[in-house]
Amino acid sequence: MEHKRRLEAMRQLAQLTDLPLIEADGYEMIEYMRAVVGHEAKRCPICYKMRLEQTARAAKEKGLDAFTTTLLISPYQDHDQIIEIASDIAKDVGIDFYYQDFRSGFREGHRITKDMGLYHQPYCGCIYSEWERYAKFKIGE
Ligand code: SF4
Repeated sequence: MEHKRRLEAMRQLAQLTDLPLIEADGYEMIEYMRAVVGHEAKRCPICYKMRLEQTARAAKEKGLDAFTTTLLISPYQDHDQIIEIASDIAKDVGIDFYYQDFRSGFREGHRITKDMGLYHQPYCGCIYSEWERYAKFKIGE
């Protein structure tokens, strides 16, 4: 349900900004769970890698110049680790990684998308982060 809500928000944003949107085939729940079970406290780099690889490959297939990620706007993500993982993927896939530190625009981005009436995520994305958000604790602490 959360994935559907976020996808719908992306579609609305694409329409409102007149930008094209390339959608993935779906949310690969089983692959994700298989990759992170047993490493729950260190799941984020695994997750970054899965998402960014898919993004880089889609960008390459479409003949685009580069790929990037909205993760770079979040003050809650491990920014340096994202850069490292994305740079490695860029080399493997053979496409540039566009880097910019978007974090200074985090609050403004929230305000703008709120004014647009777009859905805002209440937690990062996986079932573990949902649990952490509502149980108010951190796995591994
Ligand atoms: S907390 Fe976010 S980045 Fe980390 S594994 Fe979950 S969805 Fe991925």
